[in-house]
Amino acid sequence: MEFEYSPKVQTLRHQVQGFMDDHVVPAQARWEREVAGGAAHPAFMEDLKELARAEGLWNLFLPGLADDEPGQRLSNLEYAPLAEIMGRVIWASELFNCSAPDTGNMEVLHLFATPQQRERWLVPLLEGRIRSCFAMTEPDVASSDATNIQTVIRRSGDGYVVNGRKWFISGAAHPNCRFAIVLGVTDAEAERHRRHSMIIVPLDAPGVGIVRNIPVMHHHSPEGHCEIVFRDVHVPAANLIHEEGAGFAIAQARLGPGRIHHCMRSIGQCELALELMCERAAERRTFGKYLHQHANVAEWIARSRIEIDQARLLVLKAAWLIDRHGAAAAAREVAMIKALVPRVQTDVCDRAMQVFGAMGLSADTPLAGLWTWGRVLRIADGPDEVHLRTVARQEMAASAERRGVTMRRS
Ligand SMILES: Cc1cc2nc3c(=O)[nH]c(=O)nc-3n(C[C@H](O)[C@H](O)[C@H](O)COP(=O)(O)OP(=O)(O)OC[C@H]3O[C@@H](n4cnc5c(N)ncnc54)[C@H](O)[C@@H]3O)c2cc1C
Repeated sequence: MEFEYSPKVQTLRHQVQGFMDDHVVPAQARWEREVAGGAAHPAFMEDLKELARAEGLWNLFLPGLADDEPGQRLSNLEYAPLAEIMGRVIWASELFNCSAPDTGNMEVLHLFATPQQRERWLVPLLEGRIRSCFAMTEPDVASSDATNIQTVIRRSGDGYVVNGRKWFISGAAHPNCRFAIVLGVTDAEAERHRRHSMIIVPLDAPGVGIVRNIPVMHHHSPEGHCEIVFRDVHVPAANLIHEEGAGFAIAQARLGPGRIHHCMRSIGQCELALELMCERAAERRTFGKYLHQHANVAEWIARSRIEIDQARLLVLKAAWLIDRHGAAAAAREVAMIKALVPRVQTDVCDRAMQVFGAMGLSADTPLAGLWTWGRVLRIADGPDEVHLRTVARQEMAASAERRGVTMRRS
């Protein structure tokens, strides 16, 4: 087992960190000012994207890039420490063309797109010319059980007609967002996991309406978590991804890597929260002591370090498993990190906010925003309970196989 980063990853870490230090951190105040002024996508981000691409810091997330596709060829294990660095600033991943939900969509198109879909949708995504969203969740049904999804994708002539309502669709308010990958029912009579399909719906198609951008815990996201209606939206049959009934199989392929990327970025956010906590605890005094000299604060710092390192190791193991044995083989570990890392993030941020006192609840530090994002991830991409269910089921299945043996061995 090797715990050191390879020379290649060390170099890339240095480069990504340098880019963040030179271009991203200094632009943070500008980004906030422009977003507060109503910008959905501050224009200077496009300049920074060009710069990142010119420096070779592009599409770092996609291990299977073809020779003619732009970007670095890294494994998930190699990508993890880089995503961690990018994750420290909430808007930074887009600069490296590594942001959700596009990364998941690019994975899907990479695996399943026809040559025509590849040309029309995947190539511009890989080049960062457009963005995309993923539309599964619906207001009217419990969407953590995706078999409930009701949106209808009905065959009609040489195409499909889409009708339904989605919400919390991240990225749909981005001015460059050109299409949604929509999950809906193509055959209500089929077996439960063969009823749904995925289809590419251009956002400028007649009948697509963005109803609102939903603030999350009073935070406004410029890219949006949007409610979208699809009313009699005609889509060419060529936009269907893979085949009718393949929606669940595709979702499994998409959500594995997508979830692990969130966790990688979260680790970086936890590190940032811990750094801030330590700095504040070293400079603030109460009752004759620096805050870190109070035993409970020292314990918070120690616990945070232990929990972050545990979480990182598990994320790296999941990444290694995906690289070595594929997303399906890593399903248990991906569920484990998805249930663990957001909880670590909210715990570490909560302690850091407490150490900062009132300031920790303000927008003068990133902590409240980081806590909120950790809280979001306890629901987005599947709530904790669903991931715990996956882990428990696998554990019980293994237990069933061992039944009788454990007692004989002990
Ligand atoms: C900020 C944000 C961004 C999002 N972005 C997207 C996006 O881009 N695209 C998209 O399609 N969706 C997105 N989502 C939606 C998210 O994926 C869903 O909210 C999530 O899957 C849960 O679905 P639901 O809200 O319908 O909750 P429900 O399915 O109604 O579940 C409610 C609660 O029931 C409990 N529960 C569910 N199953 C079990 C179980 N087996 N055992 C015990 N308890 C259980 C959980 O506590 C769960 O939180 C986003 C959500 C947020 C908050």
